[in-house]
Amino acid sequence: MELNLYNTLSRKKEIFTPIEETVRIYSCGPTVYSFAHIGNFRAYIFMDTLRRVLKYNGYKLKHVMNITDVGHLESDADEGEDKIAKAAKKENKDPDEIAKYYTDIFLRDLDRLNIDRPEIICKATEHIQEMIEYVSDIVKNGYGYETSRGIYFDISKLDKYPVLSDRKVDEQIAGARVEVDKEKRNPEDFALWIKAPEKHLMKWDSPWGLCYPGWHIECSAMSNKYLGEQFDIHTGGVDHIPTHHENEIAQSKGRCGKIPARFWMHCNFLTIDGGKMSKSLGNIYTLDTLKEKNIDPLSYKLFCFSSHYRNKLNFTFEGAISNNTSLMRLREGYRKHLNGEEEVDKETIDKFETKFHEAINDDLNMPIAISVVWDVIRYPKKSKDLAKLLLKFDEVLGLKIDEEIKEEIELPKEILELVEKRKEARENKDWELSDKIRDILKEKGYIIKDSKNRYANRKSIK
Ligand code: AMP
Ligand code: ZN
Repeated sequence: MELNLYNTLSRKKEIFTPIEETVRIYSCGPTVYSFAHIGNFRAYIFMDTLRRVLKYNGYKLKHVMNITDVGHLESDADEGEDKIAKAAKKENKDPDEIAKYYTDIFLRDLDRLNIDRPEIICKATEHIQEMIEYVSDIVKNGYGYETSRGIYFDISKLDKYPVLSDRKVDEQIAGARVEVDKEKRNPEDFALWIKAPEKHLMKWDSPWGLCYPGWHIECSAMSNKYLGEQFDIHTGGVDHIPTHHENEIAQSKGRCGKIPARFWMHCNFLTIDGGKMSKSLGNIYTLDTLKEKNIDPLSYKLFCFSSHYRNKLNFTFEGAISNNTSLMRLREGYRKHLNGEEEVDKETIDKFETKFHEAINDDLNMPIAISVVWDVIRYPKKSKDLAKLLLKFDEVLGLKIDEEIKEEIELPKEILELVEKRKEARENKDWELSDKIRDILKEKGYIIKDSKNRYANRKSIK
């Protein structure tokens, strides 16, 4: 079946076929100066889904993701302090310690989200030599020049800049807040390699003295090392389009004349109250914040599937909590089919499979794919073949649909006490208090449902 993916470069959906047999992908990874938040993880859930969809279509993958442990300055426009160095000073630790600590937590969180790890995960600080060689090649080819601050890329040497975004360079300059560096040949020229001030924490010897890398060069050097001059897909968040990816393309054109990837795919933002969730705005939640509210990381993954990756998705705790219940229903539905003895004809099963496959191959349309999953779950005849089909779908979803559901699990004492208090309130016909307690429970991640049969589990109490 044809696989269509939206390509930011051509601004349209294109049929995907790999350059060689194995699909080569590069994903921009995290800057490890702090905890990754659930907005960041939306981008990695998208990356995971892309991997899984490609595998579902029978492709083998060679996928690289970088860990930025140096060179990402506070502003994408080469201004401000290095984020890792700043965190190191603030926490009174070595930059290495900071990077290792947050990398380990990031990788642990990828596992909690059942994100299929890229084949190669590589750190910027372990590829300094490759970066120096890359910068040297750019300079040799006449696309780079030296100033008192570092080595800059001369964008006027390119046939076209920008190519990914439609931002107007002149408008950007007119509206820019940063002071224009008079040594730069063009205001939009960006730093490839930066000369380190004396007290700078992370710096390396190079043909231009003690320096540290500009942010964009690491991705060019590492993608070139592991995937070659041109590979299949490059992924990232929409915020990478105007600067980071634009400059990666410029660097690659300056070094070898090629745009490094054929497909450029970008995940849109997770928003909160309509605005972007971001560390600098201080409106972030982590997987641990969700855990405090008893929201399973995989429920968050399911929540992300409610919107297409190219659309914004607004986060609410209510939405995430309701996905806790949905995940439980999915697993219950799977068990019902697994224990079912009824026959379902092959034609029906094939129809479901085709609909699911069409949805994921239509630029990873997960909201439609999930609706097919629900159709299978709700199918009136309960059959082992449908359970098998759901397991196959889960190769793409990665929701651990066959995980055991704990029918009766121990509820925390505090929750049991609240349930008891609410029961008393109801017996006393104190509806106001009863409703108040129900709201408190909901806030803590427990949905209470009144029914004749008492049945409790972590996410819903009946
Ligand atoms: P960073 O660690 O800041 O370099 O970001 C890591 C990844 O998370 C990048 O791909 C960003 O595009 C992405 N990202 C950052 N904030 C959000 C957000 N609110 N929603 C979705 N993706 C985000
Ligand atoms: Zn990158």
